[in-house]
Amino acid sequence: MVAGLKGIRLAVVGGDDRELYLIPELQKLGAYIVGVGFEKAPPIPGLTLVESLIDAVSQVDMLLFPMFGTDERGLVKAKYGSSPIYLNKEVLQAIPTKVPLLIGWARPALKSATDMLGIRIIETNNLPELAILNSIPSAEGAIQMAMEATPITIHGSKSFVIGLGRTGWTLARMLMGIGAHVSGVARKNADLARATEMGLRPIHFSDLEEYIGQAEIVFNTAPALVLDRVMLEKMSRDAVIIDLASIPGGTDFEYAQMLGIKALLAPGLPGMVAPKTAGKILAEVYPQLILRQLSTVNPMV
Ligand code: NAP
Repeated sequence: MVAGLKGIRLAVVGGDDRELYLIPELQKLGAYIVGVGFEKAPPIPGLTLVESLIDAVSQVDMLLFPMFGTDERGLVKAKYGSSPIYLNKEVLQAIPTKVPLLIGWARPALKSATDMLGIRIIETNNLPELAILNSIPSAEGAIQMAMEATPITIHGSKSFVIGLGRTGWTLARMLMGIGAHVSGVARKNADLARATEMGLRPIHFSDLEEYIGQAEIVFNTAPALVLDRVMLEKMSRDAVIIDLASIPGGTDFEYAQMLGIKALLAPGLPGMVAPKTAGKILAEVYPQLILRQLSTVNPMV
């Protein structure tokens, strides 16, 4: 069921092309949208532009920040903004406590600041429905990167997928669909059993050292240093690593470079390779989330 957002005022703060697709979808559902950081964007009918974030916070029921959150100084990435936007102490203090803040990924400092000020913060990066849907553009983007980085076809390649979670499963399935010989690396027996059922070669993480030398392409989705010096030394120098795990990735990139192994960190693939789909995914998930949050702070919504 599509949730109606009539009468709800939202501030969309910064972001990239995803927001250009998200905003009209939220407007179609009846939301009134204030945009911060869209001065250089193609015009979006009905969008009210506000010059500074601090002016927006008191005008809306909820604040929507981008998936990648802020940097360590509180700078919000705004592809179409004409001046920097900071989510800093001054802005946080101006946010009414009944106005929740939706953000992809919140730094620990931001979380403790909002905790102290009594502001509700909702991190969306880890919502299962969003992570699973986002795994589609992520997997496509990773395969695109692998195609560009290797002199071989994916078809027939010995591809390893490390981490069989929401992204890993989608990636493994797509790779199989293209005809790769896929090894699925996991540490849970249930995941290895499922890998067997799907036709992947299951490899327990503790046995990876023994097998990694066979890999032509390694896709890492485990958010930990799994491709460390020991593992890299066992790899073929012709192998290519596409590391999807969140920054800093799961690869010792410096050491890989020293060994002559091509290793690429691939952050933010959905917004990069398929902003329209990624924006529509946000538009599919956010309305229910917004209504749920607002009904908690204001039962009349
Ligand atoms: P997920 O569902 O939690 O899956 C992560 C997988 O990694 C799980 O199978 C987990 O195994 C495994 N893992 C975690 N720590 C490990 C370790 N120390 N050693 C071995 N395996 C380990 O997460 P996800 O949604 O697939 O996302 C995976 C990563 O990709 C995250 O960092 C996420 O932020 C990132 N991501 C990046 C993009 C992009 O555009 N680059 C897009 C989507 C997601 P267990 O179940 O045994 O813990």
